[in-house]
Amino acid sequence: MKNRKLVMIPGPTPVVRSIQDQMGRETVAFGDPDFINDFKGVIKDLKTIFKTEGEAFVVAGTGTLAMEMGIANVTKEGDNVLVVSTGFFGDRYVELCERKGLNVDVISSEWGTIVPVEDIEKKLKEKKYKAVTVTHVDTSTGVCAPVAEIGEMVKKFEDTILIVDGVCATAAEPEYLDEMGIDVLITGSQKAFGVAPGLAIVLAGPKALERRKALGTIRDYYIDFEKWIPIMNDPAKYFGTPPVNMIWALQESLRIMKEEGIKDRYERHIKVAKAMQAALEELGFTILAEKEHRAVTLSNVIYMDGIDDGEFRKVLAEEGAVVAGGLGAYAGKMFRLGHMGNIDTHDLISTMSAIERTLYRLGKKDVLGKGVGTLMEKLID
Ligand code: PMP
Repeated sequence: MKNRKLVMIPGPTPVVRSIQDQMGRETVAFGDPDFINDFKGVIKDLKTIFKTEGEAFVVAGTGTLAMEMGIANVTKEGDNVLVVSTGFFGDRYVELCERKGLNVDVISSEWGTIVPVEDIEKKLKEKKYKAVTVTHVDTSTGVCAPVAEIGEMVKKFEDTILIVDGVCATAAEPEYLDEMGIDVLITGSQKAFGVAPGLAIVLAGPKALERRKALGTIRDYYIDFEKWIPIMNDPAKYFGTPPVNMIWALQESLRIMKEEGIKDRYERHIKVAKAMQAALEELGFTILAEKEHRAVTLSNVIYMDGIDDGEFRKVLAEEGAVVAGGLGAYAGKMFRLGHMGNIDTHDLISTMSAIERTLYRLGKKDVLGKGVGTLMEKLID
């Protein structure tokens, strides 16, 4: 009998039954009073959990649309923008901004390391930037940027908006907008929220909203904050048809989050990441990201000698766990393992055991029990 396949790629992540059920509900009119109420609750919860006096936006789309929405509402053609890149998704902001006619400077790190806060500050002192983009966790490297420190530093630059890409971080790494100086947080539904792909989620603090107002009419239409603000404040109004079932799915994800407690959720992710990373190292793998800047949401795992990427991932899928391949220069040398969202001990142990069985089948006969043993030691209090 075939094994069930655990989706352990860094997004989409496993979608729990209660969230699936929301997606399978009979769709109602978007003017339905109960749905309007549900949508209002979602917006309120997002602002409460991620702590902003500003606005929250939930629209049909993916993380990339959210990236576009973030930058389009705080800049105009000809503005200077600084992109801080720790990998593939940081780099994505470069082309995106260039296409909007922005003057882009990039400050990048070697893959696996962060861009030091002092280096970003130096850039901001050298030239006036209307916005700076930072990827909280770059999914290509598993590096977590020190967003709290960056936010504190950017606060000193009154005319600079800090945009944080939280696609691979939000709901797993702490992000409190107004406290941390994050002016725009852009994210998606399919990673640590544990909802299927399909929602672009954006939060904008007061400084970003002031900037949007000052810009007047912007070129973009669907992603214009000003078009959506009336709807997010009163979903009885219409601009674009809301993805009804996806919004219910997000509502259930937020309910799960509130039930767990956001701080406990952040703590759980730290514990799980440390346990998974220790177990992977015990098996002989190397983690790409430097220890002090490792993400809690995923691990970017470099193969030991003698393991072929294609074969490893094929056998691992047969053993019941699907992981992603490496990007850029790490294609073929690394796999990416998500461990975020609504996953439990069963998922983690099964994944680790599937990794062990795969290595065993590929000739590493001495691994059985080592990863799972380490994982359990670290997970059990
Ligand atoms: N930013 C980051 C950090 C991501 O990991 C991703 C997706 N892997 C994106 C942006 C783009 O999101 P999407 O694929 O949902 O468009």
